[in-house]
Amino acid sequence: MYSYQFQWGVFMKKGQELIVDIVDVEYPGYGIGYFEDFKVKIKGAVTGQKVRAIIKKIRGNVIEADAVEIVKRAAYEREGICSSFGACGGCTYLNMDYAEQLKIKENMVKKLLDGAGITQYDFLGIQASPLEFSYRNKMEFTFGRDSAGSLTLGMHKRGRFFEVVNLDTCVLVDEDFIKILNCALEYAANNHLPYYDSRTHSGFLRHLVVRKAFKTGEILVNIVTTTQMNCDFDQFINAIKDIRLRGKIVGILHTYNDRLSDAVICERLEVLYGRDYIIEELLGLKFKISPFSFFQTNTYGAEALYNMARKFAGDLTDKIVFDLYCGTGTIGIIMAPKAKMVIGIELMEEAVKAAQENARFNRLSNCTFYTGDVAEVLTKINDKPDVVVVDPPRSGIGPKAINNIVKFGPDTIVYVSCNPQTLAADLRIFEDAGYKVKCVECMDMFPHTYHVETVARIQKEYN
Ligand code: SAH
Repeated sequence: MYSYQFQWGVFMKKGQELIVDIVDVEYPGYGIGYFEDFKVKIKGAVTGQKVRAIIKKIRGNVIEADAVEIVKRAAYEREGICSSFGACGGCTYLNMDYAEQLKIKENMVKKLLDGAGITQYDFLGIQASPLEFSYRNKMEFTFGRDSAGSLTLGMHKRGRFFEVVNLDTCVLVDEDFIKILNCALEYAANNHLPYYDSRTHSGFLRHLVVRKAFKTGEILVNIVTTTQMNCDFDQFINAIKDIRLRGKIVGILHTYNDRLSDAVICERLEVLYGRDYIIEELLGLKFKISPFSFFQTNTYGAEALYNMARKFAGDLTDKIVFDLYCGTGTIGIIMAPKAKMVIGIELMEEAVKAAQENARFNRLSNCTFYTGDVAEVLTKINDKPDVVVVDPPRSGIGPKAINNIVKFGPDTIVYVSCNPQTLAADLRIFEDAGYKVKCVECMDMFPHTYHVETVARIQKEYN
């Protein structure tokens, strides 16, 4: 990385200002423009905008710059949806018409696949999120302060990690979340409870995590603090229980976390009221969500995504299905009623226990879940799969695990991906190993952000 670059007679340096016309968007959410002979990448900018930006990094002839002003808006931009847009780091594309957001995502994915030489597949387009707004079933709000020093509870300010913006409204969640947030903030302010300052590592209140099951209305409220103070939370519990909500509070939890990192980590959990889980339904099946287990954050979107995966898997009658990176077993369990047998593999023991419980809960006796690394565990399994479903984390599958999957020679592999960059790289490896990508479809699980979920059907080639 260089802080300056002299190229084709043009001298560019870090901190310098540029005005760039955005002509394209690339994953993960960079607006692309050109300045002299440099390619300029600006996070969050969109095609059609003219942006004033400051150079942050120069690498060869690629400049990364931060937008400071939108000099000219794109024709399809909209305004006035949320007063916090821009300052709040939650949404990137809220200023764009939803249909345009979908086009951008679809193109980002196609471009990445093209770049990896994956070209001969049917592209089935992108499905919109069933809900454009209020689609999130989980929010992690942060306690902090605003620029005037007052206690706040909301999202980190964009580009200013140490400031937190209050959220009076938020288009990503329903009104129950905001009512709970306001109640917690009022309680904290009235009781003069200090927020945790991640620079000095002192203070008490860190996060408020709210999870809501859309189908059952059950809500879990989890207040995350350090152990630097004692607090009985009686008043908090009563205040939360007294809020008039559309859903219902089934549990209020207190998580202790003294770790230095800003992530919500559970060092100890105390149930202050009710129980420590909620029940959600997907495609007619029931799933138990515990405070820290992974569950897709867009319930209706997850149904559409899992339906897509099930469609790509084809007829499952009498088939053996592997659900790799299975988390709490959602995908395998959704396929189990049709399949002969489902085998799930997952690294986190807690998730595997939840997967086993979810299978029992749905009276399915043909599912087995193993704990461990996919690449390792695969070497110990004797059953031969007909269909392999993979849903890896953002880092993708990688050559070792792909090699071990391919050794089984399954006819069909269904790849569910939350990161098209690693998807493209992994698909290349599958194609080089005798498989062909047959069709690809995208699913928008996160409207107003650059995230996109992609499902690919990969088929064994018999020559
Ligand atoms: N399919 C699930 C979860 C997908 S998230 C669902 O839709 O709910 C990806 C999962 O992969 C996480 O639960 C993570 O713990 C797990 N994981 C990450 N690396 C892994 C590895 N090397 N082996 C097995 N599981 C892994």
